[in-house]
Amino acid sequence: MNPFFNPLNSLPLLGSYFFDPPRLVHMNAAELKRYQNKAFKRIVKYAYETPLYHQKYKKAGIHANDITGIDDIVKLPFITKQDIRNSFLDGVIPRGYDGNKGHMVSTGGTTGKSVSIYTDFCTIAKAASPVLRELQRFHLNWLKARFIHIGNFNPNRIDLVAQESFHKPLTSIIPMDNKLNLDINIPMTKLINTINEFRPDLILTYPAVFQHLAYLKRKGYGEHITPTVFWTAGAMLDEYTRRYVEGAFNCPLRNIYTSVESQADIAFECLEKTWHIHADFFHLEAIDKNHELVSAGEQGHLAITRLFGRGTPIIRYTGMDDWVRLRPSKDCICGLSTPVIEGGVEGRMRANIILPGGKVFPPGAFCFIESALQGFDTFKIKQYQIIQHRIDAIEILLVIDEELRDVGPSVSVIMNRIMKAYQKKVGPDVTILVKEVDTIKYPKNARKPPPIVVSHVKLEEGYRELGV
Ligand SMILES: [Zn+2]
Repeated sequence: MNPFFNPLNSLPLLGSYFFDPPRLVHMNAAELKRYQNKAFKRIVKYAYETPLYHQKYKKAGIHANDITGIDDIVKLPFITKQDIRNSFLDGVIPRGYDGNKGHMVSTGGTTGKSVSIYTDFCTIAKAASPVLRELQRFHLNWLKARFIHIGNFNPNRIDLVAQESFHKPLTSIIPMDNKLNLDINIPMTKLINTINEFRPDLILTYPAVFQHLAYLKRKGYGEHITPTVFWTAGAMLDEYTRRYVEGAFNCPLRNIYTSVESQADIAFECLEKTWHIHADFFHLEAIDKNHELVSAGEQGHLAITRLFGRGTPIIRYTGMDDWVRLRPSKDCICGLSTPVIEGGVEGRMRANIILPGGKVFPPGAFCFIESALQGFDTFKIKQYQIIQHRIDAIEILLVIDEELRDVGPSVSVIMNRIMKAYQKKVGPDVTILVKEVDTIKYPKNARKPPPIVVSHVKLEEGYRELGV
């Protein structure tokens, strides 16, 4: 049966559809807190029935009834990726949970071992609410706006599970021919021609895919591609790539922060480039290496709590491995007052650049191409990658746009400028090599485009440098 025809599903969903998207606009801080308290108590009760959480909480001497609101979160132990992996399957779903009603989803595992959790129809459907809210912020109507998602539709990947279990039943009720999914493996020229025919208002994909599309757009492809907004997720967006893409399409490119474990969008970047957290759906904390909360605005490791949904509960989960700086509240020019991720997600911890003497750069804070080229007004770098081979050796690969090679400052001047900019940042003990290459290679066995910052320095080696 179509799950939308089950009133146990459809009635709460109808409520979500009307009440979720505007909540952050209408609620003041006190009302939001009350909402969070209620949602948090409910989710802790649910988690208490799940063996992994039950055992951890019992060991810590906590009962679900001890939790009276979100401020009590500090009483609860953290949950690691390894905890979930060790307890899979029976330990990560509540006792009596009907596995047949659920779907397993797995993370990509490109940054280490993958982790699998359980989700279900209602959770996936509820996860549509933050997206509806984001669309409203960009004045897009989900029934009319033409939407393309270029993603990874592998079995057990969240994209495909959501497609099969939610979008398919939905499209049997409401024709959704304004939405198109495209696989990331389609060759680029075919991809841009398909997009051109569809004429989307919105495209969601990885920064590297946008960057290739922008290159083709600059070569005269895709004349009918005139979108309202581009959304990117799943990889770090650096300012050079952002400007490269925005300039080519004359359209804003904004970040959406999501993950498999979160099931829904955690935060989104508004037109003012503020990363608003969907605080009625998630509670975020930033911690240091001793699992102590860091102060507001300080850099820390993300611990995330999902305030909604069934399947595997996610409470104080540290497995997302991202660096963040959090502010409990910000009044943004866009009209929203929410908790925010200051300056955006700074990237994966395991891609950190660690330098002699213990200086650490999260990948997001190690992209200086944009600032190095300031004043040149050139887009002749088609793509780039920064690879740390050893603690004292960094290589910067540049792909040059052949048609722009002899326009403006020469390639050697640009390479020199980039080399100097990086040398200044890392100090004299590190060798910087800037090299021109034909392409940036895909990582082995990955279906995701190559990351901008790669480090082959093992974390342990870095920690030795840090003296910890
Ligand atoms: Zn804003």
